[in-house]
Amino acid sequence: MAARKPDAANEHQATIFVFGTKLLVTLRGIDAATAQAATAKLEQQFQHMQRNWNAWKSGELTDLNQAIADGRSMAVSPHLLGLIEMAKRFESLSDGLFNPALGGIVGAWGFHSDERPMGYRPDLPAISTLALRKPTMGDVSIEGTVVACTNKWVQFDFGGFAKGVALDLAEETLKSFGIQNALLNAGGDINSMGNGGACPWRISIRDPKSSGVIAVITLAPDEKIYTSGNYERFHEIDGVRFAHTLDPRSGIPVDHIISATVIADSGALADATATALTVAGPRDWHRIARKMGVKYALLVDERGGIHLNPEMRARISFSSDRAFTLIESPPL
Ligand code: AMP
Ligand code: MG
Repeated sequence: MAARKPDAANEHQATIFVFGTKLLVTLRGIDAATAQAATAKLEQQFQHMQRNWNAWKSGELTDLNQAIADGRSMAVSPHLLGLIEMAKRFESLSDGLFNPALGGIVGAWGFHSDERPMGYRPDLPAISTLALRKPTMGDVSIEGTVVACTNKWVQFDFGGFAKGVALDLAEETLKSFGIQNALLNAGGDINSMGNGGACPWRISIRDPKSSGVIAVITLAPDEKIYTSGNYERFHEIDGVRFAHTLDPRSGIPVDHIISATVIADSGALADATATALTVAGPRDWHRIARKMGVKYALLVDERGGIHLNPEMRARISFSSDRAFTLIESPPL
């Protein structure tokens, strides 16, 4: 955790390293001692989640994945159960495009690693065999606290929305300290809490084509904004880039979208939807966004074209130093 920096506006900032990224915590309207205690609690909780929700390091999730591979059912903790229940709901809402049961395939592409898997050569026949086994959340049932699965090729990988779930839980913790205004920014995936107090939360949407910014947006109180991108986490085989987001229908990395940004009322929904829209692509994103119940979405395609709904367009200010090709959809 980095040093906190209280300033005149009673704002406190801390940095926590979690889920392979830097989480910047901004707390407003409280004293320094409360900020310090709340941040310490968050750090402790994130460590717990990081340990137990990781798809490739030993913890509760890898135990569950092993049980499924062995054909056993397993009782799990309330947090993991909540994650599985949400995963089932989002998979069904996204028509299967958001599919956290395809961890075996994500691993086979070499993405179960803290580093970018440069030089890793995936076994393509093994990947297509795995995809043909069609692991889905529909194969998973829950009874009480016990998780059972009828398809032993299911391997959970919650990387598509764990950050969102974690930031939603962090909000609950902050509320228990009496905190009403906070911004949790995990590398551009953001939960806002409250209206920001004296000044609203203003956010930049990154340009996946450069290190700059596409647009800025002022968040309404309690909004969450998440971006899924293929531009950061990928690997190259013989000069071809493979993204870490897979199309569950084929098991192959998506190639038609560079980034998808979603605003929603919960971090979990925003995160899951951003991943689902990355898979849905320019042709299907609108239908899936509507089905998942989000009101604002913006996608950047591989040519730099920006697809967005009119409600999103009305809220954002585009960066003035670039011309954008906008492809506006019907309202969501
Ligand atoms: P995100 O950056 O939120 O889009 O999450 C990407 C991560 O989600 C990947 O690194 C995988 O762990 C996982 N993932 C990949 N493809 C999918 C998918 N179709 N549905 C759900 N999770 C996925
Ligand atoms: Mg996501």
